Amino acid sequence: MLSRRDFLAKGSAFCAITVYAPGTLGAQSKILTPATPFIKEINSICEMCSTRCPITVESRLGKLFIRGNLNAKSFGGKVCARGTSGSKLLNDPHRLVKPIKRTGPRGSGQWQEIEWEEAYQLIAVNLNQVRDQYGPEAIAVSSKSGSLSNHAFHFGKAIGTPNIFSHGSTCPISYAVAAKVMFGNELKLDLENSKYILNFGHNLYEGVNMSMTRGLLAAQEKGTVKVVVFEPRLSVMADKADEWHAIKPGTDIAVVLALSHVLIEEQLYDESFVQQYVSGFEDFATSMARYSPEWASEVCGISAGDIRRIARELAAAAPAAIADHGHRCTFTPEEFDLRRGIYAINVLLGNIERKGGVYFAKNSKLYNKLAGEAVAPSLEKIKVEGLPTPVLPRIDLAQAQFKYAAKAGGLYQSIIPAALQQQPYAIKAWVMSRSNPVQTVTDRTQVQKALEAMDFVVACDVYISESAAYADVVLPESTYLERDEDISDYSAKSPAYALRQQATDTIGNTRPSWQIFKEIADAMALGQFFPWQDIADYQQRQVANNPELLPQLRKEGYLSFGIPLLMREPDMVAKFRQHYPNAQPVSERGDYGHQLQFTTPSGKIELSSPSLEKIAPGRSVISYRPVTLKQPGELYFIQGKSALHTNAATQNIPLLYDLQPDNPVWIHPDTAAKLGISDGDSITITSQVGEEQGTAKVTLGIRKDTVFAHMGFGSKNQELTRAFGKGVHCGALLPHATAAITGSNVHTTGVTIRRV
Ligand code: SF4
Repeated sequence: MLSRRDFLAKGSAFCAITVYAPGTLGAQSKILTPATPFIKEINSICEMCSTRCPITVESRLGKLFIRGNLNAKSFGGKVCARGTSGSKLLNDPHRLVKPIKRTGPRGSGQWQEIEWEEAYQLIAVNLNQVRDQYGPEAIAVSSKSGSLSNHAFHFGKAIGTPNIFSHGSTCPISYAVAAKVMFGNELKLDLENSKYILNFGHNLYEGVNMSMTRGLLAAQEKGTVKVVVFEPRLSVMADKADEWHAIKPGTDIAVVLALSHVLIEEQLYDESFVQQYVSGFEDFATSMARYSPEWASEVCGISAGDIRRIARELAAAAPAAIADHGHRCTFTPEEFDLRRGIYAINVLLGNIERKGGVYFAKNSKLYNKLAGEAVAPSLEKIKVEGLPTPVLPRIDLAQAQFKYAAKAGGLYQSIIPAALQQQPYAIKAWVMSRSNPVQTVTDRTQVQKALEAMDFVVACDVYISESAAYADVVLPESTYLERDEDISDYSAKSPAYALRQQATDTIGNTRPSWQIFKEIADAMALGQFFPWQDIADYQQRQVANNPELLPQLRKEGYLSFGIPLLMREPDMVAKFRQHYPNAQPVSERGDYGHQLQFTTPSGKIELSSPSLEKIAPGRSVISYRPVTLKQPGELYFIQGKSALHTNAATQNIPLLYDLQPDNPVWIHPDTAAKLGISDGDSITITSQVGEEQGTAKVTLGIRKDTVFAHMGFGSKNQELTRAFGKGVHCGALLPHATAAITGSNVHTTGVTIRRV
């Protein structure tokens, strides 16, 4: 008998028949009505990446057209290429539209369609069995970020497991943890008004974040900003910069510390800001005294003269100058002090809450307090009584240094040793909500083994993703165009909210995640922890004290309240006070600087952290520690985002696949010549944990000692028919490594390359 995989293999060899996996839209015997838009125009939120831009979905001639919601001015009323392709996802015959259960070995591609009731019963029986036998903490729950994670994480809490994870440790966790330790909260960047931007590999023109990217673009179009990029590759960001420094991977921190050295040595820092708001400056300054530009130049290869000049230029532009926290370029085990070091430059520039600097989101509570009146409505936090208290600590808290990371989404990769070596204790079941660890966590082989070792795996997804392929049951989630969700807080310089709304009929038998987790909880006799009837009831609870907000949001999709405010910007504060006669009095400087609060142990910005010293001795002060990212003879392997795909989530979507089907490996012409490689050659790329086949892209836009590939490609799951086998699977080449304190999964390693 032929398995589905054998049939696919033979089919591809002998004919061009398209075979669809059970449960997918294309496999349905009855032709399902394509999306029938029932409303002409509706405002909602994009979900093609985690930026979640407000959008307007228009139905015309039976087709959906997606554009930016003009109410959301900072997003510019625009969407990116991925944003426009939502309707392709909606109608893709490969998307899952019925629940399926595994009928062969894990990952064999043998599935059977089942009804929702059977799926829920299977899940309830198996999860209850794991909980009864090993305890609730043996169940891990992981979810993509956004409002769907609210429901998945709440489900984890209802079970009583502490092991709840976002994808943060494979992506933004390092700067989130660094900000938390130093400021108590995350910061936003006022790129549009900045006069000088230092960028350490935050490739905003490919890893598009619509609001930030448009702010940067506006500043560059005005010609009022200088952008200096440190990145091993000529990314689009580097190409559009005024200066590109092709820095050696893993050495950014040397430049960062040397910049602080110059700012302090030449007394170019904002002394009064430091005196008023900073704790630990003396320790920090003592540490920075060691890191001269000459020292840094030896480490990173950037000239000492350039470092001094850039420090002086930054200081001259301050406070309208930013050191961007950086995102997804070179990773290092010393992520924590790299990100803290970058934030420290901002502190020395005194740019906190200044135009062109960095700032904190102004939620309604803070804004209304400053205004002395209720300018913006507030959302209620939905409290559920009686949730079980976990008995054991999280698996990633086996090391106290990860205290902050555990609160910022956890160490996603810690599920692997828990599954394979029962370290620190066993994880036996995994509930995945649109998360894809087989692609995003390092060392694909180990992740696959961890999934195979589980007693039970549930995936909730729109495709049979590479991780869902190893599940026992896959539940088809409605796409973002087919579901309503909770109200989300979008506050920035003033309070704002947005609402995702159903824009078209649901295709097939899919359900939104809020409903899926509520119904699994019902099947597990945990329904008392999900007291809302449906999402409309949930939304009503969110606006219990401001019921008028919901109908307004249903109409507008996005609402902002008040006028923009930066608390240390006297002009903006003066305007704010004109607007709100009962506003709080200002400081001697004519601003709200005296109201600025930092939720750190000292109540100040912590340039050194005594409380960190207790959980990670020797780490209170920002310091340089050398790292080894590759062995002699190897090339650095770095990855980055594409403007046409979101991590590993969109490679199979028609249109986006057509625009970028794979990820050729960038290699410098001199390096390629030494290896006998020409542009377009097939290559084998090898690391200590894996080997991948790819194509060479020979280009001057990369260092000689480094190779690069866009992440998320090289799927090994045949159900993803378009993406299958296209390009290099980065996760298969990356060994497991975890950065200190932040828990970041390190995505840079050494590789060798040869022509096939
Ligand atoms: S940046 Fe693009 S893909 Fe991401 S939410 Fe905005 S429009 Fe959608």
